[in-house]
Amino acid sequence: MPPELRRDPFTGRWVIVAPERGKRPLQDRRQETKRPNVERRSDCAFCAGNELMTPPEVLAYREFGTGSNEPGWRVRVVPNMYPALSPELESITLSDRPFESMAGFGYHEVVIETPFHYRHMGLMERNEVEEVLWAWRDRTLSMEADPRIQHVLIFKNHGYEAGATLEHPHSQIVAASVVPQRVAEEMAMAQEYHAETGRCLWCDVTSLEIEQRKRLVTENDLFVALCPYASTSSYEVSIVPKRHQTGLSELRSHDVGALASILRDVLRRLYIGLDDPPYNLWLHQAPARLASAQLYHWHLEIVPRLSKWAGYEGGSGFYINQVPPEEAANFLRGVSI
Ligand SMILES: [Zn+2]
Ligand SMILES: [Zn+2]
Ligand SMILES: [Zn+2]
Repeated sequence: MPPELRRDPFTGRWVIVAPERGKRPLQDRRQETKRPNVERRSDCAFCAGNELMTPPEVLAYREFGTGSNEPGWRVRVVPNMYPALSPELESITLSDRPFESMAGFGYHEVVIETPFHYRHMGLMERNEVEEVLWAWRDRTLSMEADPRIQHVLIFKNHGYEAGATLEHPHSQIVAASVVPQRVAEEMAMAQEYHAETGRCLWCDVTSLEIEQRKRLVTENDLFVALCPYASTSSYEVSIVPKRHQTGLSELRSHDVGALASILRDVLRRLYIGLDDPPYNLWLHQAPARLASAQLYHWHLEIVPRLSKWAGYEGGSGFYINQVPPEEAANFLRGVSI
C-alpha cells in the first residue's frame, strides 16, 4: 500500500499511514558502543564507500574532481528508502464523509551529515555544521518550488530512545501537501497575538527573554538559545533568530555561520552536560504558500528524551516536565564547552 494521509474525524489531525516504514532495518545495537577511532562501518549505508547502498544522491557537497555517488562528499542528500510520503503519488484528496484521505504525496529525504560514522553534531567543526545547514536550506528551496508543497519540516532523531533506527549522523526533510498540526497551532497563536498587538509574538518573546536572561542559554549577534517558558521536556532548548525571518530561504551566509555556531554550542552543552542524551530536533518554518505566513517566525526546537511520554501525556495532551526551564537554562549556561 502506498503512503496515505488520513484525517482523524474527531480531532481534525492528519495521520500518515505508511506500511513501508515498518520495513526499516534496525542497526545492530550490540555494536553501538562508541568507537570514535573506527570511522567507517562496512554495513552502514551512510558511511563513505557505501554510496551504492542508498538511492542515488539528489545533492552532495563534495571534493573537486569526485563524481556523484562516489566517496569524496562531505554532506550528501538521498531520498529516504522507506518514505513516509512519496513524490511519485498524485496529490489528490478523497472525501467519503466522515472519512477524508489524501494520497501520501510529498518528499522525504535524508541528509547524511558527515561521511564519518561516529561524529556527534556537537563535536563537529563549525564549517561541517554550516554545510549541513546549507543542505537543509538548498533542499527546502527546491521542495518549496513545487506548487503542491505546503510545508517543509526538517528534523533529526539522535539515539535509539529518540527514534533513530540508524546511528550514523543524519537528519531528515519531509515536505507535505498539508501544514502539520503543530505548525498550524503556532500560526494560529501568532495570528491572534498580531491581531491584538500588531506585533510578532516570537519577536516579542525573544526580546523579553534576552532582557530577563532567566531562561537564556547562550546568544550571538543573530540568534538566541533559550529554554522555553512552557517546555514540554526537561532541558528543552529553542534557537530563535533575533531578526524576524519566516524560514530558511531568508538565510544569507552570515546567518548560516551564526546559526552553525549556536547550534553546535547548544548540542555540545547537552552532550557534555547530560552525557550524550537521546534527543529530537526539529526546525519549524512558515508554511510555503500562505499570505499570513509572514507572521510566522522560524525556530529550531531541541528536545532531549530523558523521560518517556506515557498514558497521561497521550490521553490528555498535558506534558509533565520535571525540570523548571529556569533551572535547566542555569545548568546549561554553566556547562563548560
Ligand atoms: Zn555509518
Ligand atoms: Zn518575529
Ligand atoms: Zn515550533
